[in-house]
Amino acid sequence: MSGNPYTWLEHSLETIHRADWYRSVQTIQGRSGATVLLEGRLVINFASNDYLGLASDDRLVMAAVAAVQEFGTGSTGSRLLSGHRQLHRDLEEAIAFLKQTEDAIVFSSGYLTNLGVINALVGKRDLIFSDQYNHSSLKNGATLSGAAIREYRHCDVEDLKTQLSQSRQNYRRCLILSDSVFSMDGDLCPLPALLELADRFGCMLLLDEAHATGVLGETGAGCVEHFGCRGKQLIQIGTLSKALGSLGGYVAGSAILIDYLRNRAPSWIYTTALSPADTAAALAALKIVLEEPTRRVQLWQNVAYLKQQVQQHLSNLKLLPSESPILCFQLSNATDALKVAEHLKSHGIFAPAIRPPTVPTSRIRISMMATHTLRQIQKLVEALAVTSDQ
Ligand SMILES: *Cc1c(COP(=O)(O)O)cnc(C)c1O
Repeated sequence: MSGNPYTWLEHSLETIHRADWYRSVQTIQGRSGATVLLEGRLVINFASNDYLGLASDDRLVMAAVAAVQEFGTGSTGSRLLSGHRQLHRDLEEAIAFLKQTEDAIVFSSGYLTNLGVINALVGKRDLIFSDQYNHSSLKNGATLSGAAIREYRHCDVEDLKTQLSQSRQNYRRCLILSDSVFSMDGDLCPLPALLELADRFGCMLLLDEAHATGVLGETGAGCVEHFGCRGKQLIQIGTLSKALGSLGGYVAGSAILIDYLRNRAPSWIYTTALSPADTAAALAALKIVLEEPTRRVQLWQNVAYLKQQVQQHLSNLKLLPSESPILCFQLSNATDALKVAEHLKSHGIFAPAIRPPTVPTSRIRISMMATHTLRQIQKLVEALAVTSDQ
């Protein structure tokens, strides 16, 4: 074998370009809010996961600054060695309080949380059932665990039940994985039915509340609260990086589960503790989530307003079913999706085209924020109306 062993990279990139699947970054300047400076132009921001508008809130900024001044920039070690601070514990207790669980543990990101937790819970003798539209971190976590993996059709409880009856008994432990709000679609998992099946077939259930935390439920505790399923045994995962405006991930559950994870989750044990700035910002955000429910009310009013406007003015666009602040317009292919995103950008609207392989069908994905004004939502509808006429 001779020749350059890296030339395949170039060929692979060419293939990605040809399919219009190529991606690149766009530079945001300044703080990110309902509007944002995108490559020098002020645009209305429908691309952010910052549902409550907290990522640029002065209280989070001040909390982060104060923590950096008190503790410095880096955590200097893993939690079990030299990186643990009272601040981390305060954050974990605040998460457990919001979630009404016995305990919680924070990781350096939501992605690392899923990799570590799935790995800690199942192995070669075990079986994983995973919704086909689950987030990449759940899918890669499943692969990494070495367990057998079966996908079930999106939100299809009957399919899951059939597969459970066929193969559950051939394995030791069984773990069901699901997003609670599906990140690229905006619909919700059938949580009560999943809990029932988990109970019936003796399976653990891991629910990823990344897009639900701070957003769904009376107090912002997520889908579990939304469906009235608190107090049921399950493993809740989430992120500090979306509605909480910071960076990091968490698990909330029983004290025994959390204690076990501190001893067995490799992506918690062998990585540096969350930075003081991120930890303090997330803690400040949780306080706001509990004390300012009006932000959530405002968010859902904005979602309702956009849905009503779409129904009234954009009936020829296909809106995917959604019960969250994520609203997706389906398009027939990646090229069309890119065209619409470009058109929106030229009209001062920032909303990304989401394409394969992230999703099976191309779409424009809108994320609503509590801080969008009605006028900003109208501008989105006006810009979309022009594309849907063509
Ligand atoms: C964003 C997201 C993650 C990853 O969280 P990060 O904190 O950004 O790493 C995990 N799961 C789901 C469903 C997500 O949407």
